Amino acid sequence: MTTTPMSAATERQLDLARLTRPDFPLLDQFLQGRPLVYMDHAATSQKPRQVIDALVEYYRCHNANVHRGAHTLSARATEAFEAARATVARFVGAADAREIVFSRNATEAINLVAYSWGLDHLKPGDEVVLSVMEHHSNLVPWQLMARRTGAVLRHVGITPQGEMDMEHYKALLNGRTRLVSFVHLSNTLGCLNPAAEITAMAHGVGAHVLVDGCQALPHRPVDVQALGCDWYVGSGHKLCGPTGIGFLWGREDLLEAMAPFLGGGEMIAAVQLGKSTWAELPHKFEAGTPAIAEAIGLAAALDYLTALGLERIHAWEQQLTQHLFDHLQAVDGLTIYGPDPRQQPDRGALASFTVAGAHAHDMAALLDSAGICIRSGDHCTQPLHRALQVTATARASLSFTNTMEEIDRLAHELQEAVHLLRQNGEPGLG
Ligand SMILES: *Cc1c(COP(=O)(O)O)cnc(C)c1O
Repeated sequence: MTTTPMSAATERQLDLARLTRPDFPLLDQFLQGRPLVYMDHAATSQKPRQVIDALVEYYRCHNANVHRGAHTLSARATEAFEAARATVARFVGAADAREIVFSRNATEAINLVAYSWGLDHLKPGDEVVLSVMEHHSNLVPWQLMARRTGAVLRHVGITPQGEMDMEHYKALLNGRTRLVSFVHLSNTLGCLNPAAEITAMAHGVGAHVLVDGCQALPHRPVDVQALGCDWYVGSGHKLCGPTGIGFLWGREDLLEAMAPFLGGGEMIAAVQLGKSTWAELPHKFEAGTPAIAEAIGLAAALDYLTALGLERIHAWEQQLTQHLFDHLQAVDGLTIYGPDPRQQPDRGALASFTVAGAHAHDMAALLDSAGICIRSGDHCTQPLHRALQVTATARASLSFTNTMEEIDRLAHELQEAVHLLRQNGEPGLG
């Protein structure tokens, strides 16, 4: 079933797909008459029944608003909501649950830092260092902030292998650098960026560091304290959790010193008509009724991942990734963007690619008609695609629920699709 030289026993032990598939009801269905193959986990993850059950149980048995009212249901909802925060804190290695701020998604968490910290700390001529591989969520908030504050944006390029160009990064750092914000694991290139090293270098010139952990968190253990960064953001729906929930981790002293982001109920201590005082961390940053059920669902998802073991998830996904690359690289005219797993074994379980003579959207459409879901387009990384000189790539992104056989099916159907598209002779591609 796999070409990796492992004993059958080890292999079976690592086959997390066999172990977990019964937990994912959505994956057990047919699409266009074929068993569904889901390979778009980098866009959003599927949810185990443990998460679905937690959502249903919350609404059936405990639903009430949090942090107000003395009644039993409100106390129960508050307790479950705050327990969810503690679960997130443990998952990322935070020193205290006060350092976890719930948000609507990772995008909102980045905007929180841009507005709360950026507006007060960025001055004309200050520099913000990002990279060309950033998700639009880590580009646009800083563009808005640069326009408001007069700060200047700098962008680290990539190497020919599709990794962060560390020489370029070093050259961009200087005494005017106030912030470095970068993606931990690229959703398009799949490269794992050396977050601890990038952070240490930024701190060396006195800059703060924000890390976009959306794609790293679901696939490997992450410890924010070991990374040494100042803020780290994650997304619930990428972590087998519900949509509508994300989070910001921040160092307590930094969060303490930051102004509130949005104003309203829940985030205040006392309100007068003309002025107010703020609630303690983390509530200062959580205006209005939060996504209670979603936070509880996210905690159930993190418990699920923790029980499986992030190390085991990573190990199984490494095997899947090598198998994926071996098969894709055998397709004539196919180019993968991002480091080869033989060069960077720690890279993410995804592959963005183009094939000469076949457009990404056409390949995705033909694969869909064979029951296989992959993504095509720019994956919210338009500047990166421009740097790679392609308008669109196809992307297969895996999780621990995927099997070796599914990768075989992808490769087979892709070959067929490419053959068909070349026969039909797309314009401009010989
Ligand atoms: C998905 C993703 C985001 C945006 O996350 P949302 O929670 O959907 O806002 C940001 N960065 C990366 C790398 C992502 O993969």
